Amino acid sequence: MDPPNCPNCQQPIERALDLPYGWWEWNGTGYRLRTASKRVDVAPWVHDECMTELREFHPHEYGTPVMREAGKR
Ligand SMILES: [Zn+2]
Repeated sequence: MDPPNCPNCQQPIERALDLPYGWWEWNGTGYRLRTASKRVDVAPWVHDECMTELREFHPHEYGTPVMREAGKR
């Protein structure tokens, strides 16, 4: 089963990052706070290939190994 494609870069979402506060990036003189969200509210999931928010994406909608195990019973 293939993962869904990213609506931004069209690549498969193999890794979705959970970044509630964004990330800190070194700019040569210090660390600067970055975020993938374009809005005030922070997107919970970010595609690691393009670091763009996945507003409609939620991993659990596509199933997890734990959920599949539970479904067998
Ligand atoms: Zn992407």
